[in-house]
Formats: sequence, C-alpha cells, structure tokens
Amino acid sequence: MTTPILNPATEEIITTVAPLDLDAVDAAIATAARAFETWRNTGPSDRALLLRRFAAAVDADLENLAALEVANAGHTLGNARWEAGNVRDVLNYYAGAPERHAGAQIPVDGGIDVTFHEPLGVVGVIVPWNFPMPIAAWGFAPALAAGNTVVLKPAELTPLTAMRLAELALEAGIPEGVFSVLPGKGSVIGERFVTHPSVRKVVFTGSTEVGQQIMAGCSAQLKRVTLELGGKSANIIYDDADLDQAAAAAPGGAFDNAGQDCCARSRVLVQAGVYDRFLELLEPHVTGMAVGNPALAETAMGPLISAGQRGRVAGYVTGDDVVFQGQAPQGPGFWFPPTVLAPAPGSPSLREEIFGPVLAVVPFKDEAEAVRIANDSVYGLSGSIWTRDLGRALRTARGVEAGNLSVNSHSSVRYWTPFGGFKHSGLGRELGPDALDAFTETKNVFIATGR
Ligand code: NAD
Repeated sequence: MTTPILNPATEEIITTVAPLDLDAVDAAIATAARAFETWRNTGPSDRALLLRRFAAAVDADLENLAALEVANAGHTLGNARWEAGNVRDVLNYYAGAPERHAGAQIPVDGGIDVTFHEPLGVVGVIVPWNFPMPIAAWGFAPALAAGNTVVLKPAELTPLTAMRLAELALEAGIPEGVFSVLPGKGSVIGERFVTHPSVRKVVFTGSTEVGQQIMAGCSAQLKRVTLELGGKSANIIYDDADLDQAAAAAPGGAFDNAGQDCCARSRVLVQAGVYDRFLELLEPHVTGMAVGNPALAETAMGPLISAGQRGRVAGYVTGDDVVFQGQAPQGPGFWFPPTVLAPAPGSPSLREEIFGPVLAVVPFKDEAEAVRIANDSVYGLSGSIWTRDLGRALRTARGVEAGNLSVNSHSSVRYWTPFGGFKHSGLGRELGPDALDAFTETKNVFIATGR
C-alpha cells in the first residue's frame, strides 16, 4: 500500500510513497545501532569534514530541494529556498562542533579529573509537516555532530525533502545507517522510536497533545526527550512604536507559511490610544497580500497543507468578529484568505492555536495589562514587542513567559541562538551553541596520581 502525496496548491498527486511497517522500522533502528559503533569512533576532524560535505551537497541541490517543498508543502519559493539554505547553514554551524565540544579538567584532591561528552546512541527525530526541512535539520545536525546516529520520521503529508536529504547525506559520504529517513505513520514509526530500547532519545516537534503522549511513553525507559510544541504568541504594540513599521510587519509575523508556524504572532495586542490608527495602517497590508501560486517569486502566501487543516481554520472564522480579510484563489487548492479578527474576551480564537492565516487583535491599557494578556495562555513559545522605549522593551521581554522574544522585529529562530518553549510549548532547547549538550551525556573520570 502506498500513500499518495498531494500538491496542496493544486490537489494533484505528485507521487506516492510506501510507508514503512514495524519490521522495516526495527531493521532500520538495528542498522543505526550498528552504525553508531563506527560513527562515535570517527575522529572529530573526519566527522566535521563529512558534515561539511553534507552541507555542500545540500547547497548544490538547493533549487531542487526548494522546488520539492513548493510542490509538496505549498511553501512560497522564497521561503523554500531559505529553508533549504537553513539546512545547509545548520549543518555547517554544527560541523564546527566535533572539533570544539571540549570537556573540562576539574581541580580535585589526589589526582586528575576530566569530563567527556559521550554520544547517546540512536536518536529518533519526529518532524511535523509545517517546516519539513529546517525542523529536521535542527534535530539531526547537532545529533550527528555529537556522534549519534539518527533515524528520522517525516510527517505523513510531507516526506519528500527529508527523503532527498537522506540521499544527499549518502552522496556526501556519510556512512550507511548514520542518517536514515523512515517515511510512514506516527502511530507506527514515531511510536516505535518511543518504545524501542535502542533509541536513546526522541526529539519531537508537533502538537502538544502528541508531545505529551511521547513524554509519557519515554518515561518508561527514562528516555531523553526534547519537545517543541504549539504556540499562541503575542505581538505587543505600544503607543510609542513606529506604527507604520509595526503594521507593515504584523502580517509577516502572523501569516508567514500561511500561519502554519508554531511561532506565529497570532495575537496582536495594541495599546488602546493607537488601536484604531493601527488597524487603519494594517488593513492595506492584509487586503493587498499576494496569495496564490507558491512557485511564483512575487507570492507572499501559499495554500494551507490539507483540506482538513483548512476546515479546522475555517471553524474559527464564523463572521461577526471579522475586521477585514484579504484575497485567496478560488478553485482547486487548500486556500484560505489572510484574516483579522477582533474576538470577544475568552473566545477560542484568542486561546487555541489556529495554525492558519488568522490573527486576533486585542486592545490593552498599559504595560502591566499587556504582559498579563500575553501570559494568559497555556503556551509560551515566542513573541514580539514594538516600542521605542528600550527600558519598556526589556521589562516586557522579561515579563512575557515565552522562550523567544524579539523587539521591533518578528525574528524567532536563528541557528546561533537557543530555541524552545515555556509551559505547554515544549521542553528543552534546540539550536545555539549548547545544542550538543542535549545529545550527549557528561561522563566524569577521575585518575588517581598517587602521592
Ligand atoms: P502532530 O503532533 O500530529 O504530528 C507531528 C509528528 O508526529 C508527525 O510526524 C506525526 O506523524 C508524528 N506523530 C503523530 N502521532 C504520533 C505518535 N502517537 N507517536 C509518535 N509520533 C507521532 O502535529 P502536526 O499536525 O504534524 O503539526 C502541527 C502541530 O505541530 C501544531 O500544533 C504546531 O504548533 C506544532 N509545531 C510546533 C513547532 C515548534 O517548534 N514548537 C514547530 C512546528 C509545529
């Protein structure tokens, strides 16, 4: 039985993929466990070189990878090129790690004490459909750099770029079994990563509900776990902000990737005195947004990933609280127009992650109320603050319970810096200079030197 893979902009079948069954998954994990014995003992310079070659292979294939993602995930061409480039950059960044991930030498009585960063073994990476390439790389690149082998499960809807990355790894000289991509069902393959004793860590990105199940399952073996889950992030706009800039940037912060972004600033909190003016400035940026064929360079927003996702998003847009809406193509494709709501307090569209191009605007009185509303959420992934007052920006950034804040921008994920969530948005951090610590155990060795 094969699974048809659709183009969400046309609903046409691009190709079919054969999902792996349990026996095939167990065989792949066994191969990865054998490959670990060689990979962990590959010298740091050789491991670094192979990761650099993998990065070069991704770079050489960048246009092909981007075209695959445009077709399979409906990402705009500009986004898809950035995403393939991000895989290359993350590989290059962590290619610097094997030669630098030094342990410590600690002063002790009676001898010498040193620490080592030991790799864990086989790491299982489970990836969602919204950013198939970057989210995969944020897991596999540091895991491989630390000396682990990786089995990776792409989302059912979007396996194509991950499968291509596995081919590129082999072409670059990464040994067989060190990095394997296993397409198929979460309930079969992802679940097996949780239960198989040879998989020593699970890196999961996806919904909070599945993340909770994975954490509970991993507890049976005290298996290490990193979780990157949902978000309902606030974009806080103070009355002293550059309102033109804040209004021009708000749609990008909420509607990038058609809002299917765990960091989407889907709640825009605006100080009461500038609320009406902000909406006036925002409207043309929303109604004028270029929504359409994602393969065209001028397109700003493509389709949603599936009919199911479109139905879910539409369920939040029921009529009376719509302030304004942009355009979307008619006909085939899972289209939804960029939409701005002004919901009543307590409305589901203010509390639940919509994962579509829908943002909610909310007025606030002062700094304390802005922080209170921003924190009135089970999630805590990211957020933005627009103001010219640096003190207020820093106080607000410290007050908001979220892992990734940006001031006068909507930046969230930079491979140089740690990324992850507070509260129900996750557990642990990815990326940044310390990522290898999440893929290693610290071993302490004492050597007696006698008197
Ligand atoms: P999902 O949780 O259904 O699936 C994510 C992945 O987990 C898929 O590969 C799926 O096959 C697999 N999976 C499903 N059930 C599983 C199980 N029982 N055991 C093991 N694996 C299983 O989520 P989705 O619908 O693919 O993605 C959208 C959600 O992911 C949104 O809620 C979004 O906020 C979240 N997300 C979070 C981040 C982040 O970095 N925090 C990034 C992207 C997406």
